[in-house]
Amino acid sequence: MAKKTGKFEWGEATKSSWIDISIPLRDKMVHWPTDPVPRITRLKDRDKGDPVSLMEMQIIDHVGTHIDAPLHFIAGGKTIDQMPLNATIGRARVIEIKNPKAITLKDVIPHNLRRGERILFKTTNSTRCYKTDEFVEDYVYFSTEVAQHLADRRVRAVGLDYISIGTPSDRENIHNTHQILLENDIYVIEGLNLAKVKPGRYELICLPLLLYRGDAGPARAILKPV
Ligand SMILES: [Zn+2]
Repeated sequence: MAKKTGKFEWGEATKSSWIDISIPLRDKMVHWPTDPVPRITRLKDRDKGDPVSLMEMQIIDHVGTHIDAPLHFIAGGKTIDQMPLNATIGRARVIEIKNPKAITLKDVIPHNLRRGERILFKTTNSTRCYKTDEFVEDYVYFSTEVAQHLADRRVRAVGLDYISIGTPSDRENIHNTHQILLENDIYVIEGLNLAKVKPGRYELICLPLLLYRGDAGPARAILKPV
């Protein structure tokens, strides 16, 4: 068997009709500024003579691509191990938002969201924000009105292409966007990379790690056009 060397190429494992829209977990990868730095290191290394290779991960449950469970903001809310499997598996719609600042009602209403839909928002974040491991503060986020609209339309799950659905420049926005979606049991996928995905209809598979009583779960997310 050919020995695999060299750097990880994003998408190298995705030469099929499935498109990987997750972010690789890496040491010191981009993270929320007040959260601990992700530590992912090779503890034992076969290439350095150890009998086995092993990695050690010290991460919080909101690192990289992940799903927020209601408990993240709601006292007594459901935990990630209680999430219905079909919340984030099945038909999904990718909607492209060109607004470079925020996703506003005006951007979303023309897309006529329907009850039960899984909606992934592709913004300029996907091509702009993952070029660096530094936290990009001015990413495109959900306005509070959009979170309310998603809840009113009773969508099943929503996704965004950066670390959080709210903006770090407005505590109230962070709180309200999460509160509104999570109290309606709408599962929130954060940290997607939709750079390679065109707007349209897809089959989505996204599952969080089965973290016992987790308020979130790191996830792998893939899409296939339908
Ligand atoms: Zn989160």
